[in-house]
Amino acid sequence: MMSKDKKDYLVRGIDKGGNFRFFGANSRNLVNEACMKHQTSPVASAALGRTLTANVMMGSMLKRDQDRVSIIIKGDGPIGGIITESNGKGEVKGYVYNPQIESHLNYLGKLDVGGAVGNANMTVVKDLGMKEPYSGQVPMLTGEIAEDLTYYFAVSEQTNSVVILGVLVDVDYSIKQAGGIIIQVLPDAKDEAIDALEEKLKDFGNLTDKLEKGQSIEYVIEKLLGEVEYMGQTPITFHCDCNKDRMERALISVGKKDLNEIAEQDGQAELVCPFCNDKYLFNKAELEDIIKSI
Ligand SMILES: [Zn+2]
Repeated sequence: MMSKDKKDYLVRGIDKGGNFRFFGANSRNLVNEACMKHQTSPVASAALGRTLTANVMMGSMLKRDQDRVSIIIKGDGPIGGIITESNGKGEVKGYVYNPQIESHLNYLGKLDVGGAVGNANMTVVKDLGMKEPYSGQVPMLTGEIAEDLTYYFAVSEQTNSVVILGVLVDVDYSIKQAGGIIIQVLPDAKDEAIDALEEKLKDFGNLTDKLEKGQSIEYVIEKLLGEVEYMGQTPITFHCDCNKDRMERALISVGKKDLNEIAEQDGQAELVCPFCNDKYLFNKAELEDIIKSI
């Protein structure tokens, strides 16, 4: 299908009136890749896909390529938690604690992400290359991710925002559509412009319905904001930066005593990267070298 071959991308810009800045992401492929790697059930796909899409847009708010922003959701619902991370280069990775949870629909007939998340907190951590990372935490009001991020932006970043996220899961569990829009009110925004946007949002409907109809993210943004000025279109991808060196550091943190035990009893150690499920095998000789180096 045509729509499935399109590359993922992100657009950003401001409206002609200078009232809002916006970010829009077409994230079907990267969400699909993440969900395939983690073998997620439909509701876990929706939860992970929404968070990845939001996170990659927040990555594009960073100043430098190497800066990082993470979303950490921990709750008492069956999914347990959702962890995602993005950088300033449009790369995003993420996982959920329990990917195979049962999928239920909510009263709107949509996948019940809020029920899967349960009572939860959302923490946003920004590593901007300073001594200490910046971190802000809010209780989640709905667990549906978009509303909770709106709340986070208002409380932690004093920014009024509209967050729209959508993930449509196909009957074969592949991702049919995924995308998101973040609109943020600029300091000099006119009240009339804010009122007009609020009015349009009242009967906005679903983002994935619009994407299914073949509407582009740009088209949807322009429907909401009128004439806009784009500041570039950039590719976005699922990308994990794990490697054997990093896994070795994780092994070192296990400690000499326990590593000795593993080397003796198992003769090897297998580590799995939580973000991408890639496996790293350390044989006995490698383990002994690591133990010696501690
Ligand atoms: Zn990885």
